[in-house]
Amino acid sequence: MATVEHQPTQATNGSAQGGIQVENPATGEFIATVPNSTPDEVAAIVARARAAQPAWQARGYEGRAPIFLRAQKWLLDNSERVIETIVSETGKTHDDAQLAEIGYGAGALGFWAKTAPKYLADERVRASSLLVKGKKLLIRYEPVGVVGVIGPWNFPLTNSFGDCIPALAAGNAVVLKPSEITPLTSLLMAEMLTECGLPHDVFQVATGDGQTGAALIDAVDFVQFTGSTRTGRKVAERAAHNLVPFGLELGGKDPMIVLADADIERAANAATFYSMNNGGQVCISIERVYVEEPIYDEFVAKVTDKVRAIRQGNPTGPGAVEIGAVTFAPQLDIIDSHVKDAVAKGAKVLVGGKQAAGPGRFYEPTVLVDVDHSMECMREETFGPTLPIMKVRNAEEALRLANDSPHGLAASVWTKDAARGEALARRIEAGAVCVNDAQVNYTALELPMGGWKTSGIGARHGAGGIRKYCAQQSILVTRLAPKRDIHMFPYSAKTHRRLGRLFKVLYGRGKRD
Ligand code: NDP
Repeated sequence: MATVEHQPTQATNGSAQGGIQVENPATGEFIATVPNSTPDEVAAIVARARAAQPAWQARGYEGRAPIFLRAQKWLLDNSERVIETIVSETGKTHDDAQLAEIGYGAGALGFWAKTAPKYLADERVRASSLLVKGKKLLIRYEPVGVVGVIGPWNFPLTNSFGDCIPALAAGNAVVLKPSEITPLTSLLMAEMLTECGLPHDVFQVATGDGQTGAALIDAVDFVQFTGSTRTGRKVAERAAHNLVPFGLELGGKDPMIVLADADIERAANAATFYSMNNGGQVCISIERVYVEEPIYDEFVAKVTDKVRAIRQGNPTGPGAVEIGAVTFAPQLDIIDSHVKDAVAKGAKVLVGGKQAAGPGRFYEPTVLVDVDHSMECMREETFGPTLPIMKVRNAEEALRLANDSPHGLAASVWTKDAARGEALARRIEAGAVCVNDAQVNYTALELPMGGWKTSGIGARHGAGGIRKYCAQQSILVTRLAPKRDIHMFPYSAKTHRRLGRLFKVLYGRGKRD
């Protein structure tokens, strides 16, 4: 297990001799150093996980569930410490950390403990083929062995440790490679599971940079990755080379469509919140808005007022500010370049529009209008506290623009006509669409959450969110049977004719058109 040395000093995040220095993005202080695990170390960590896995699997669901339930309580009992850790390495607010990380983690620990036996239970199947009539047919799920989870920096608990929970509940050992920017929460989760009785080496954290992640892909039996589309492609290529299955949750550019009959006040509150919560560093953040002409001015006026009222700065405690820091240093340049590109092409900044004063890293909550699809802010993931709003003539134009994107993670439609909203939702090219809501679908762990197009492969949550961590096995059992089945050797013309007639009876009758 990686150990943490605390070393508060002043600098920017990055590797240091002997390890990776972790920075508080809201203050610019160094807060810890963690090891940068080499490929050999990763191989050794995975070997230990492989040795520990069979006994963990052998415990069965009843033997594993109490550990998750103890961890659920631990997380709530120690929530302040966990929140402080998350806040210190991300610069996000205590409120974002509580809602989206503690809330998610506590829910997920209970959910997977309870649903794993149901989702992974043997399934009896009845087949239509005459060749298997009377035989026992079933589908079962066997944990793959060792799962590697590679996580990003925006939600160090939810998007990194969160994926480990179903993998462990299925009976796998897990090695988590957190983002080098935010490794401390993952280490705390390891401490939590150890205190709650998880056997040694069943869950380990391999801190390190991209090469640590790459080495992990070479050693495990399944890779779950969350992060950028660019790195996702590299992960997919490496996993494909090794013929290791993988799941990817990648970038998004979530559109919000506001129809003329929407509840404007609710839509404006939601646009403000779901584009700016967690500083806009949410994969399913509202990243662009299309508003029908008749309500455009009123909507923009309301959003502008609400965004202007947002407080931003170093999150010193619960309720102190709405928006904290930009966690990842290069992200500041991406946000700024999207705003500058929009302005250069004719967009207007109504609020914000520039980097805010330090010593930490902050970008002002920003509203852009007069935007179009020639601008980066409407086409590429910004991942910051910005909200570009575009006027459209009607719902069809909004739909065309919403689908004019390489991404397809999530989307939302806003209208008082729920049936019309749902009909429009079905035509949006995204893995998750909300009507009169956004992001909260992520808390419905029964619903799959995965991207279309370049936003990902596979999904987390739902039955598929735990079955992916298993190898699927089909079993066929023949009990009562003749000494020789009709299709076995020796072949004969008579049997050939009989089988031909049988297939015609079975499959050759009935109307076709
Ligand atoms: P990356 O996709 O580069 O990193 C995600 C994880 O992959 C990190 O743990 C990273 O390690 C690791 N990694 C990097 N290179 C490799 C590799 N070759 N093989 C295996 N693992 C690797 O995300 P960034 O942190 O660089 O963020 C870039 C962009 O991604 C952001 O601008 C944002 O647009 C998007 N993003 C999307 C997220 C989402 O939830 N969908 C979350 C975060 C970012 P390390 O950190 O040590 O480099």
